[in-house]
Order: sequence, then structure tokens, then C-alpha cells
Amino acid sequence: MLGCVLRKMCWKRTGARRGVCTRQPAPRVRFAPSPTGFLHLGGLRTALYNYLFAKQRGGAFILRLEDTDRARLLPGAADAIEDMLEWAGVPPDESSRRGGDCGPYVQSERLPLYSQTAAALLQTGHAYYCFCSNQRLDLLKREAQRSGHVPRYDNRCRRLQPEQVQQRLAQGVPAVVRFKLASGAEPFQDMVFGWTRHEVAAVEGDPIILKADGFPTYHLASVVDDHHMRVSHVLRGSEWLISTAKHLQLFRALGWTPPAYAHLPLLLNRDGSKLSKRQGDIFIQRFREQGVLPETLLDLVTHAGSGFDNNRIGRRLEELVCEFNISKITTHSALLDLDKLHEFNRVHLQRRIEDEEKCAVLRDELRQRVLHTHGSQISDRAVLEPLYIQRVLELRKGHVCSLRELLNHMHAYLWIRPRVTRQQLQEVSAEAENIAAAVIQLVASGGSFESTEHLNTELKLIASRLKHTKYSGMMRVLRLALSAQQQGPSVAEMMLSLGEQEVCVRLQKALEQTGTT
Ligand code: GLU
Repeated sequence: MLGCVLRKMCWKRTGARRGVCTRQPAPRVRFAPSPTGFLHLGGLRTALYNYLFAKQRGGAFILRLEDTDRARLLPGAADAIEDMLEWAGVPPDESSRRGGDCGPYVQSERLPLYSQTAAALLQTGHAYYCFCSNQRLDLLKREAQRSGHVPRYDNRCRRLQPEQVQQRLAQGVPAVVRFKLASGAEPFQDMVFGWTRHEVAAVEGDPIILKADGFPTYHLASVVDDHHMRVSHVLRGSEWLISTAKHLQLFRALGWTPPAYAHLPLLLNRDGSKLSKRQGDIFIQRFREQGVLPETLLDLVTHAGSGFDNNRIGRRLEELVCEFNISKITTHSALLDLDKLHEFNRVHLQRRIEDEEKCAVLRDELRQRVLHTHGSQISDRAVLEPLYIQRVLELRKGHVCSLRELLNHMHAYLWIRPRVTRQQLQEVSAEAENIAAAVIQLVASGGSFESTEHLNTELKLIASRLKHTKYSGMMRVLRLALSAQQQGPSVAEMMLSLGEQEVCVRLQKALEQTGTT
């Protein structure tokens, strides 16, 4: 487990000025969620910023599971968190699943390390056993509340004599280990919040670092792991900013060099309210189920906050890695605009369609979805051919926000031959049969299916020859005959995606309906 402690830091050349070779150690960062819940947007953002920071500098991104709060563990959450990081495209380099030489990466598997460290702190006088009962602690709390003070432990057990401690331990009195907070506070420089100083001993009692059941509390486990996992930079939510003073004291007491800290401002809704986990709509799994692309989430989350020289829609992960600039993170809360989700997804879907490799995956996915949704109703197996699906994607890119949208009612015409009644067609135009016949002829003459512009010119020409129907009326007839809908993509686009043969089949059917064949 501790092999890595002794390993030398990995040094990487990060840049050179003329004649001067600057070398900086490759950073090691970690995302350290507690598996007490599933990954949500706030967690994804913390993971992403760590990932960007590491990748930009050739460093390593570690996933550490902080599962010491046994009562709040959620079965399946640990696996689901890593699954979601992988899905989002920001997988860890080291984790319990991936391995690595600083493991185990789950805190409950590192208990001896924490108890050894607590023992070392007891030995050097930086920690002490506390035998205060829960009743006493409750009493302290209630008294403080009654007198309008913030409850805090009064550090009573600090004053126990060594013999008293030994006697109680020998008697088996349940004990926790507390860390002796030093008074006064040294400022530290946070990479986001700048010089920060928090006089923790003035507002808090000595914190428990090892519980009676042998499990560490967050503060001890986090410091021990950051040290032994050789974490060089801690990028975490700003809610941990005030804990850092405590962590720095622990590092000092243990004679270890602390990492650099960057606390990320809160991620809030656009109106400044807290992202609500209870509604369930901020969980990554939920977005995935809704057809949101991972790059959309990464783009949206970074778009909300700072950390970049400029803000623009459509950045992919590679671009985020290149453009991320930690010195640009401000202390303002990041405001997330979930209303823009669809727009972001539309842009990223378009980018995927334009990428040959990614588009092949989309084609397969869409084919599966079509089979699943329309199955037996599919009019012609040709709609499952890669060429047909590719054409649909090309023509609909920039219009739809997800593949799911291509399966809705408005797009059913792409996969299913519509049923249109004679009455419906005649209601639109008395010349329905002429229109259908003219368009069939146009198709038969060939050459018109080059582009929507080309088709539109031809259709306008046909319309100009009609006696009683205007161009718009003709379009309504065609739209109805081709899709049984009154709205949707342009008629020319519909014709292009369906292809010559299918257009003829559908118009022929329309003619049959009007009784002229
Ligand atoms: N387990 C803590 C959390 O879930 C990690 C805090 C830290 O990154 O130090 O937020």
C-alpha cells in the first residue's frame, strides 16, 4: 500500500524559456466523493476540473472513495460514481477499479494507516484520548444552545493525566482520539481565494480524528490519504475552505508537506438557488437516460463557471483541456443554466454527426432505437440501412437536440409509411392528384434530388403551373402525403431523406386514395 510513499516524484518538463529549462512535477489530483449518493452535476464539475488540471500538465487523476461514514453509505453508489465518470469521458487514472500503486483507493480498506497515524499523533502529544460520553457531549451542546453559543467541545480530556488515561483504557472505557488544535492561525494561499486565514481553535473544539469503532473521521483520513497518495493539488468545493486550516495543522503536526489548495466556488442554479438533489434532476445518470451527451454536460458545467479565457458553446473535452486556465477561476458562484441544456446538446450532437467515427456509433444507436420504438411498424427495412440513417442524421443535424427526438411523432414518417385518407388530402386541395402526379413525374425525370435548394426550385415550378392551388397549398398536400403531418421539416428535406423511391411509393398511395390511378 505504501510503496508509493517512497517513490520519487515524477518530474515532467513543462516548458522552456530560451536557455532556461523549467521543470515542474507532474501534478497528482484527486476526486474524493463519499459514496453516500450518486454523482450529480456539482460532483461532476469537481471531478472535471481535477481532470482538466491533471491532463493539461501530464499529471494523474485519482478517484478515492471516502466511505468512512458507514451509516450513510448508499449501496451501489461507489460503482455508479465511477461508471458515470467513465461515461462522461473523465475516467480516473487510478482507482480501485483501475488499480494504481497508491491503493487501496477506498478508505474503509485503509484503516490500519489511519490508526497508525492517530497513534503517532498521540505519541507526539498532538492528539489525546477523549472518554467523554455522548450524554456529556449532548449536555454541552444543549447548554451552548440555551445560552446562544455555537456548540463546541470544551477540550476537557486534554487535561487528563497519563495515568488516568491508562486506567480508563485498561477499564475498556470507549474512547475517541481528538486532535489538539493549535491557537492562532497561519494564513495560506488558496489558488482561487487567495490568502486565507481561519482561526479554527477560536471557534471549534478539538475535532475527533479517530472514532471509537476505529474508523477515522473525514479530516484525518483526507490528510493521511492526500499525503500517502502524493496528492500535489487539492481542487475541491469551497464548502471545504474552512476545513483547510484544520488540515494544514494536521499536516504540520505530522511533519508532512501539504498540497496546494484550490477551492472551487459553489455551483448554483441560474437564479442563485441551490441545486436540488432531491428532485433527482441533477444526477448524471438521469441526464444520460434523457439522451444528453456527455460532452454537453461537461460544456454546460464549465460554461457556468470560470476557468477559461472566454466562454463559448460547443467545446469538447480536448478543447476544455487545452483552454482551461486555473488562474481564471473566480470566487463568484458558478451559475448553471439548465434551460440551455437542449441548445448545448444540439450543438454537440451536430459535432458528433460531423465526426466520421462518432457518427458511425450514432448510426448504430439510432438504428437500435428505431427498432426498439417502431419495430414491427417499420414500413421498409431500407430505413435501417446505414446510408439511410446517415442521410437522416445529416439532414436533421442542427435541428434536433437528441437522437430520441428523431423517434417522436413528428419524425415517425422517417420510419413508418403514413396513412392518409382521401378526405384529408382533398380537404387541403382539390388538385391533390395533379400535385402528386406532377411530383412523381419530377422524381422519375431524375436529377432533382441533389439538394433541398434544387428540389425547392423544381417544386416552385410545378406550383406555378397549378390553376387553383398556391405554392403553400401544394406543400401542405405533399407534407400530408409524405408524412400525414401538418408540421415538420421542410417538404424538400422530407423528400431528400425519404429518397426517390419512397417518395414515389407514398405519392402513388396518395393518388390511389384520390382514386385517379
Ligand atoms: N468526501 C468529501 C466530499 O464528499 C471530499 C472533500 C475533499 O475533497 O476533501 O465532498
